[in-house]
Order: sequence, then C-alpha cells, then structure tokens
Amino acid sequence: MPSTTFTMIKPDAVQNGHIGAILQQINEAGFRITAMEMTRLSRVEAETFYAVHKERPFFPDLVAYMTSGPIVAAILEKDQAVDDFRKLIGATDPAQAEEGTIRKKYASSIAANAIHGSDSDENAQIEGSFFFGTRQRF
Ligand code: ATP
Ligand code: MG
Repeated sequence: MPSTTFTMIKPDAVQNGHIGAILQQINEAGFRITAMEMTRLSRVEAETFYAVHKERPFFPDLVAYMTSGPIVAAILEKDQAVDDFRKLIGATDPAQAEEGTIRKKYASSIAANAIHGSDSDENAQIEGSFFFGTRQRF
C-alpha cells in the first residue's frame, strides 16, 4: 500500500541549479509527488523543524544554512516511502553516501547536504502537515 514521506531540496541544491535533476531522479525511482512548494524558511520555522537537534553544536549553523535561500518542499508517495527515500538520498555525510545517491551526486558537505528525507512514518506526517496542512507547530 502506498505510504508517504516528506522531503526538502535544501538551499545549496536549489542555489546550484539541481532542482530539476533531483526531481527527475525522485520520479524515476518510483515516487509520485503529491504536493510541492518552493518557499523560504523563517528562522522560527527552521528552528522548529530541526528542534530535535537544538542542543547539538551544529544547530546555529544548521538554522543559518536552512534559512539562507529558497527550498523546495514536497510530499512523496510510494510503497515503503520513508525507507526507500532514505536509501535514494544516501548517508547524511555525502563522503559516506553510496554512489548514485542524491547526496553523493549533489551535496557539498555534511552541513549543506542537498536534501532532507523524513526518518519515520510519524515524522513524515508531522513534517508534511507542517508545510502543507495547517502549518501547525510541533
Ligand atoms: P535530514 O534530517 O536533513 O534529512 P539526516 O536525517 O540525514 O538529515 P540528521 O542527523 O537528522 O541527519 O541531521 C539533520 C541535518 O543537520 C543534516 O542533514 C545536516 O544538514 C545537519 N548535520 C547533521 N550532523 C551534522 C554535523 N556533524 N555537522 C554539521 N551539520 C550536521
Ligand atoms: Mg533527520
């Protein structure tokens, strides 16, 4: 049965002109885009989205980076969407990511790593409604 995940093409990948290539790879991997928006995160939105990392040393840089330019947010549908999408994007650090993954091809660094993918069905729902539902804060 189709399930959903949530993604953001991050500011570095948008800035470097990779929106089209990344969306094509997502579609060719069998995901259907069911919602999409190009937008820019406010500081509060970025802090809220990554609140789980707020005690980490990289948090201020992460928020600065995620608000540095436009992003493309989307909801994607496929069987096993969360797991299959994490495989398609590759490891957080592009140096560790497998050949052919989106991060291997397009990420600049562990901080500017081109794309986000939800890490669980529950977070996919929360993150999808953050952008496309009521914009409810969690
Ligand atoms: P995302 O949640 O964006 O899909 P992820 O689940 O692979 O990425 P997380 O551990 O959730 O990785 O980290 C969230 C984001 O914080 C990473 O994508 C990256 O942009 C940044 N980040 C994580 N670890 C580091 C680090 N050691 N140094 C700098 N930035 C980091
Ligand atoms: Mg994560």
